[in-house]
Amino acid sequence: MRDATRIIRSTLTPAVAGEPLHHGPVFAAPFHTPGDPTGVPYSYARSHNPTWTALEKSIAQMESAPGYRAKALIFASGMAAVTAVFGAVLRPGDVCVLPSNAYFAARVLLQKYFAEMGIVLRMAPTAGNAQAEHLEGAKLLWIETPSNPTMDICDIAALSEAAHRAGCLVAVDNTTATPLGQKPLALGADFSVASDTKSMTGHGDLLLGHIAVRDLELHAKIDSWRTLTGAAAGPMEAWLALRSIATLPLRLERSCENAQKIAEFLATRPEVTEVLYPGLPTHPGHAIAREQMTWFGPVMSFTLPTRKAAETFLNKSFLLTEATSFGGMSTTAERRARWGGDAIPEGLIRLSAGCEAIEDLLEDIAQALEAANQIEAE
Ligand code: PLP
Repeated sequence: MRDATRIIRSTLTPAVAGEPLHHGPVFAAPFHTPGDPTGVPYSYARSHNPTWTALEKSIAQMESAPGYRAKALIFASGMAAVTAVFGAVLRPGDVCVLPSNAYFAARVLLQKYFAEMGIVLRMAPTAGNAQAEHLEGAKLLWIETPSNPTMDICDIAALSEAAHRAGCLVAVDNTTATPLGQKPLALGADFSVASDTKSMTGHGDLLLGHIAVRDLELHAKIDSWRTLTGAAAGPMEAWLALRSIATLPLRLERSCENAQKIAEFLATRPEVTEVLYPGLPTHPGHAIAREQMTWFGPVMSFTLPTRKAAETFLNKSFLLTEATSFGGMSTTAERRARWGGDAIPEGLIRLSAGCEAIEDLLEDIAQALEAANQIEAE
């Protein structure tokens, strides 16, 4: 069965006469647990909830590949999932190898809290598999590919092999790709982590994250971390996610096709200094991305010469909604340096292609580029 069919089928309930086709949200804190609670699947909702289970089964299907069946755990946000890997794996004195260009909140979390508690951080760029040089004696290799916001690529299979040779676990932040676009576990990683706030759910109406693993011991560790820290997703969010996931194949196909066309168009424009999108053959990570990704993703970054040019471009566009986050139905863009924290040019814009008609998007981008160019020339 193809991915699109499997994912849509995975959101259906078993065919029992008179039962609804789709799961509804189960709102509960305690569940009935008379007498001995052993073997009762649901007792208190900080541990497990039937709506989580339905969503986790669907995500696990997506993360699985021939040869293994993944298990998934959902979290209240992407950062709750990221924190769970660090918290369940790392102990004082352990070394964590981190991309120097990792998503800033993950980097700050490690630097500000985990390093203070005795975790040793080694940082190297994503591009060129530079993290491979730092694996000796490490406990955890954290990978992000494509990286946010600079769209760097590394080779998950090669890095996982090198890490395992060094006795090190591997986690991939797979947010920009989604498990439909890239399957880290199939490429050898131990943890596939994502913010499902983005493309996975795609409507900009909830925060959610997940972790998928193959190994049952790792699953138990992460499950326990979630229960003890209370990083529990609300059942309403889990249910909204379950509804949204059925349209992921459609949304991803359309938004990634739009992203490819926008990136190709931007690459022809003289106003644009650089386009960072792994789907472009000129991208240094293109060959690896082709190998390990089914889709190159909806997100790209491109650079205009100055901050003023980038701000004018965003002001003059009618169809690019200025917002942070990405992976939604509608195209969004922002000047990323306005937040600080990343070593990027002032004129860098991160754009997330949505599902609009591509002709409208390209016309709008062209007129906004011209307006930005005119302001620059004045
Ligand atoms: N990882 C990446 C690559 C992200 O871009 C984000 C959010 O932007 C996160 C993790 C954190 O996700 P959340 O905002 O759902 O906590």
